[in-house]
Amino acid sequence: MKNVMILGVPVHRVTMREALAHIATLMAEPGMHQLATVNPEFVMRAQQDGNFRDVLQSAEMCLADGIGLVWASRWYGQPLPERVPGSELVYHLAEQCARCGWRLFLLGAAPGVAAAAGQILQAKYPGLEIAGTFSGSPHPHENDAIVQRINDSQADILYVAYGAPQQDKWIAHNRQALAAVRLALGVGGALDFITGKAVRAPRRVQQLGLEWLHRLLREPWRWRRMLALPRFAWAAWRESRQLHKHSSSA
Ligand code: UDP
Repeated sequence: MKNVMILGVPVHRVTMREALAHIATLMAEPGMHQLATVNPEFVMRAQQDGNFRDVLQSAEMCLADGIGLVWASRWYGQPLPERVPGSELVYHLAEQCARCGWRLFLLGAAPGVAAAAGQILQAKYPGLEIAGTFSGSPHPHENDAIVQRINDSQADILYVAYGAPQQDKWIAHNRQALAAVRLALGVGGALDFITGKAVRAPRRVQQLGLEWLHRLLREPWRWRRMLALPRFAWAAWRESRQLHKHSSSA
């Protein structure tokens, strides 16, 4: 799969449809595969957190969850075809699970949210098998019990809603231990969106690339984390200029 390397993070240049097709390919292969839904906050975090950067570099798929990545990819001359939001992928993939008979486990979010999200998805996609749901936590002392619970459920696909970077590190840490799971993805606040606990921006706002602003207005405590956005834009622009300079002088 083609990717654009943005500040050391590989972002796959695929549409939602291509991502789903690639997931089907991965599901047919042995072993557990990791998918991350990346936004500029992830990329900036990965600049300081080497472990998180390794996790993203080792993941089989890193999808462009944030519009900032789509904009930046154009500066690098390797445009991403579209945004592939995790909050939409969770629906498409649940639909694919129902069609293909893949069993889905929902882990994380506040108590009760994963179970409610599972019921909503089942009502939307008849035939969808929810292997299990559990709020849990990323704390190490819970780790083994949670892995055991997921393995006992014989889930094929795992959504982990612990927020970044904990969810992505949790998946990477448990890659070997999750015996039957074939695909695990960090889904951030997606279970909250499914249940209506959190509300996505209106479609028009999403199309304008302003979903981040809607989120900031609804959840102002995010302002500090969102300072990563201008820092990301500056760092990515600078890196892309340097790459252009090198390639034109080579
Ligand atoms: N969460 C959790 N356990 C934790 C920390 C977070 O279950 O220890 C959940 C939280 O309830 C929410 C999700 O993780 O459902 C993170 O959502 P957020 O919107 O913050 O995700 P991000 O912005 O990191 O994608």
